[in-house]
Amino acid sequence: MDLPDDLELPLASGEPYWYWLGGRPAMDFVNTLRERWWRRVETLVTPADLTCWLERANLLPPGSDARPSTAQLRDARRLRESIDVAVAALTSGEAVEPEALATIDAWMPCAVTRQTLARDADGSPVLHPATPVDPFRHALGTLALDAARMLGTDQRSRVRICASDTCSARFYDRSPTSARQWCSMRGCGNVAKARRHRARVRRS
Ligand SMILES: [Zn+2]
Repeated sequence: MDLPDDLELPLASGEPYWYWLGGRPAMDFVNTLRERWWRRVETLVTPADLTCWLERANLLPPGSDARPSTAQLRDARRLRESIDVAVAALTSGEAVEPEALATIDAWMPCAVTRQTLARDADGSPVLHPATPVDPFRHALGTLALDAARMLGTDQRSRVRICASDTCSARFYDRSPTSARQWCSMRGCGNVAKARRHRARVRRS
């Protein structure tokens, strides 16, 4: 999952560089900071990037008029990095910093939407979730809740960082055997396979 070496940084917009191999929203979110092993490329560059990413992730309705402020973009990145601190600690078997968990925890109430009782077309009552008062905060709350379910339950045994030395992709392993090592078989998995093959050829 490499970016071109000659990328002009910082990016004007990260949109062309988003990818969706994380297996769940919280991991896709963490993967918006790319090449963590090297030059840490920020792809949530502007508030508009954040809105657009949340729409692509189906966390904001398309064409939403949510316009986060620069401070809110900072808060979103802080949530993202807190999730990553926990992911990195779990994959290396270390204790998770309490501040990281506190940041994720503080966002979780924003995921809650109240229920509302309305009338459908033929006049029958229907119970459904109300539109969130602040769709942007609700979207981040939903990401925090997804992270909490992944980190705070048995699901944590499926938290992975790609085995490639030159890839920082995080992913949630949904494979039946729970033995996935690469962010993608077509990308890093293939590179590793080709490398093993070349080594075998050299030996024989
Ligand atoms: Zn990878």
